[in-house]
Amino acid sequence: MNAISLVDGFNRPITYLRVSVTDKCNLRCIYCMPEGGLPWLHRDEILSYEEIASIVAAASSVGVRTIRLTGGEPLVRRNLSRLVAAIADVPGIDDIALSTNGLLLEEQLPGLVAAGLRRINLSLDTLRDDRFEAIARRPGLDAVLRAIDAAIAAGLTPVKINCVVMRGKNDDELAAFAELTRSRPIYVRFIELMPVHENLGLQRDAYIAAGEMLERIAVTEELHPVTGPPGNGPARYYAFAGAAGAIGVITPLSHDYCERCNRVRLTADGRLRLCLFGDHSLDLRSPLRNGASTEQLAEIFRTAMLIKPERHHLRLGEASSAMRAFSEIGG
Ligand code: SAM
Ligand code: SF4
Repeated sequence: MNAISLVDGFNRPITYLRVSVTDKCNLRCIYCMPEGGLPWLHRDEILSYEEIASIVAAASSVGVRTIRLTGGEPLVRRNLSRLVAAIADVPGIDDIALSTNGLLLEEQLPGLVAAGLRRINLSLDTLRDDRFEAIARRPGLDAVLRAIDAAIAAGLTPVKINCVVMRGKNDDELAAFAELTRSRPIYVRFIELMPVHENLGLQRDAYIAAGEMLERIAVTEELHPVTGPPGNGPARYYAFAGAAGAIGVITPLSHDYCERCNRVRLTADGRLRLCLFGDHSLDLRSPLRNGASTEQLAEIFRTAMLIKPERHHLRLGEASSAMRAFSEIGG
């Protein structure tokens, strides 16, 4: 293993790789995917677990230390624990995390933890049964709540909950979500609604800036800035006095976090994406399938540093061509 770190053109060390293992999903959240789904990738286009592990080995050789598995919904891909085990075997990878909607988590959790999973982000936008289906377009609240309990019981640390806040849809639940952090070691992260092609109208109408979210939570009780859990994330954290957990805000629109960016993304079809918003990407799948060595793949990571942009220029109601359901920030 080579300890040389990846550093981009703006002096940011890149140590974090998000890996999308599938573009498919068992939900259709109104802010993320159209009801009829997307034009899914063909099976041959999707990287195998062995191919993903080879790319992770190359990433590790140039300094990547954290891998987050995401999607689409990663748990709809069969035997995900086999991939977790393969990544855990890569020298240099010391942190494996998962972003999931939680529907299939309870049954898969023991296998994932045994394979080496250490951290988890669960998405949940409402605590009300009637609303879950309105937002996710499929039922499932009970399964997600059970998944949160199971993740805490399994000792995953930290357990983070990602909640996309939308005016008129779930913004009256800000306080209820914040209450979850008082007695349990949960980090609830409120995410500003980002524009994607599928949701431009919704985004314009329902967007709430993080500042307003925090003000509304702090109406009854003061929130204190806190360090937050370890885990390389883009959130800023606050807590009620004496709380076991904390509240985070992720602010892709109102507050630019690009200067702290430490990450790149691998799409399910093997492209290395350099920024969440924008078209900067390089193909890893073709070289890999043509027999590229770990060193040759590592060289593609180094080359990618030359085209990683300094920042995104996303604005309210404007979608980027690259921003799709399977290239996200919430992890
Ligand atoms: N299916 C998994 C899940 O829902 O956690 C992983 C993929 S999902 C795309 C990752 C995160 O991105 C979720 O927390 C989701 O809420 C968030 N997300 C998706 N579309 C978004 C949007 N338009 N604005 C803000 N967050 C979004
Ligand atoms: Fe699926 Fe996650 Fe997108 Fe919801 S946010 S549709 S769960 S990929």
